[in-house]
Amino acid sequence: MDAQKIAQLRAAPVAPARHLIDGTQCAASDGAVMDVISPLDGQILTTMARGTQADALAAVTAARRAFDDGRWSGMTPAARKKILLKWAGLIEAEALEIAVLGVRENGTEIGMAFKAEPMSAAATLRYYAEAIDKLHGEIASTGDDTLGLVHREPVGVVGAIVPWNFPLMIGAWKLGPALAAGCTVVLKPAETASLTLLRIAELALEAGLPPGVLNVVTGEGPVVGAAIAESMDVDALVFTGSGTTGRRLMEASARSNLKRVYLELGGKSPNIVFADAPDLDEAAKVSAHGIFRNSGQVCIAGSRLLVERSIHDAFVSKLAAVAEAMTLGDPLDPATMAGAVNSEHQLEQILSAVDDARAAGRTIVTGGTRILPETGGYFMAPTIVTGVQRDDALARNEVFGPVLAVIPFDTEEEAITIANGTDYGLAAAVWTSNLSRAHRMVRRIRAGIVHVNTYGGSDLTVPLGGVKQSGNGHDKSLHAFDKYLDLKTAWIKL
Ligand code: NAD
Repeated sequence: MDAQKIAQLRAAPVAPARHLIDGTQCAASDGAVMDVISPLDGQILTTMARGTQADALAAVTAARRAFDDGRWSGMTPAARKKILLKWAGLIEAEALEIAVLGVRENGTEIGMAFKAEPMSAAATLRYYAEAIDKLHGEIASTGDDTLGLVHREPVGVVGAIVPWNFPLMIGAWKLGPALAAGCTVVLKPAETASLTLLRIAELALEAGLPPGVLNVVTGEGPVVGAAIAESMDVDALVFTGSGTTGRRLMEASARSNLKRVYLELGGKSPNIVFADAPDLDEAAKVSAHGIFRNSGQVCIAGSRLLVERSIHDAFVSKLAAVAEAMTLGDPLDPATMAGAVNSEHQLEQILSAVDDARAAGRTIVTGGTRILPETGGYFMAPTIVTGVQRDDALARNEVFGPVLAVIPFDTEEEAITIANGTDYGLAAAVWTSNLSRAHRMVRRIRAGIVHVNTYGGSDLTVPLGGVKQSGNGHDKSLHAFDKYLDLKTAWIKL
C-alpha cells in the first residue's frame, strides 16, 4: 500500500456531501446539513445533507418512475451486465481514494478497508453482473395440452438501509443483485458512513447507469429511513443494522403496503474451542482476529468464546498475548490491525458494557479501557473478559465492539446449549480434530454459518444470513437474487 499517497489523501479537504436523486446531486429540501465527524480525531471532516421526508419521497418517486418506464428493467440482462462491469472497473480504479475516504469517515483499519470496501464492492458487482444473463426461466412439467412457464421478474423499487461498519461491502451485497435483477434502488446510508456510497453512486452514473435507477439520500434513520420504510411505492426493504430498527421496518411495512422486509441484524456468535482443536496457537490467532478486527464492529464477530474447561486458562493466555501484540491506533497506517470505533456514541456503549461486567465481578484479563485519548479519536483496547455467566448481558447482547466474553464448558452437549442460548443465530465456529463432532455441531448449532477450524473469511459464493433474531433472507451467493426477483407463472392452454 502506497503510504505516501495515503498521507496525501488523508490531508485532502472533503467536499460537502449532497444527495443523489434522479441522477442529480442536490441539497436537502430545507437546506439543512449535518456534521460528519471523523472517528480518527473527533474533528469535523465535512458536512452532508440532512435529508427530509420530502427528499426521501422524491428519491422514491424517481426510482418508481425509473422502474416503471423500463429504462433499466427493460434493458437486456447483457446490457445491464455491461454497465455494472464498467462500474466495478471505475470503483477499482479509484479504490485507494475511496478506501481512505471511508476510513476517515468510519475508522476501519486501511488494510482491511481497502479489501473489504471498494475491492469487495467491485467484486460483488461483477459477480452479480456476470450471473444475471445466466439465470433462466422454467418450463413446468405439465401435460401436453398446457404450457406452464415460470418467469423471473424484478420486484420493483428496493429501499436499502445500510449500517456504518462496512458500508460499501454490505451496500454492494444489496445493490449488486438488486440492480442486476433490474430493480431500482433508494439507498439510505448510515449517518456516520455515507461518503463512499455517494461516491460510488456517482461512478455508477459515469458507467452509464440511467438516472433514477440508484438514488442515495443521506440523513437520519428515523426521518429518511422511516420515510422509505413507510412508502407505498417501495416494493421491498433490505436492511442491515440493529434489531430495534429491524422491528420498526417490519411495523412500517405492516402499516403501509406489506412490502417484503429482509433483515440482517447481527449476533452474539459463539466461537467454540475444544481441547482437541488441531492447533491451539492458530485457533487463538484466528479467534482474536475474529473478534478484534474492525474493533469488533462486525456482524459475524465471534464475541463469545466457549472454551473447554481443561484448556481455559492456557487458551485465554494465548489469546491475551495475541490481543496485546496487536498494532492499534491510526487506521490510516497500513500496519494497524484494529482502527477506531465508529463514533463517540458507540465507544460509550462499549465502555458501558465493559463497566457493567466489571461491576458484576467479572475479570478483565486485558484491555477494558479507551486508548489514545490524546488523538481525540475513538479507540478501544481489545478486551477479554472471563468469568462471564451465561445470563450476563455480556453473554447475551451484541456489544459491537472489541470485547470478548469467555465462558468455559465441560461437555459437547453443554457447549451446544450455551451456544444456542441467545436470541441470535448469525455465525458460530467449532475448533476440533474430531470430524464427527464437527458435523454434529454444524447440525445442532442454530446459526446461518458455522465455521470449522477457522473464523470468518468466507467468500461471495456462499450465503450470509441469520436465523432467530439475527434476521431473515440472505446476502451473497446466487440465493441473494431471491429477494429481488419475483416468480410469475404463465399458464397457457394449447
Ligand atoms: P441502526 O439500526 O440504528 O442503523 C442502521 C441503519 O438504519 C442506518 O442507516 C440508520 O440510519 C437506519 N435507521 C435507524 N433508525 C431507523 C428508523 N427508525 N427507520 C429506518 N431506518 C433507520 O444501527 P446503529 O445505530 O448504526 O447501530 C446500533 C447497533 O446495531 C450496533 O451496536 C450493533 O449492535 C447493530 N449493528 C449491526 C450491524 C450488522 O452488521 N448486523 C451493523 C451496524 C450495527
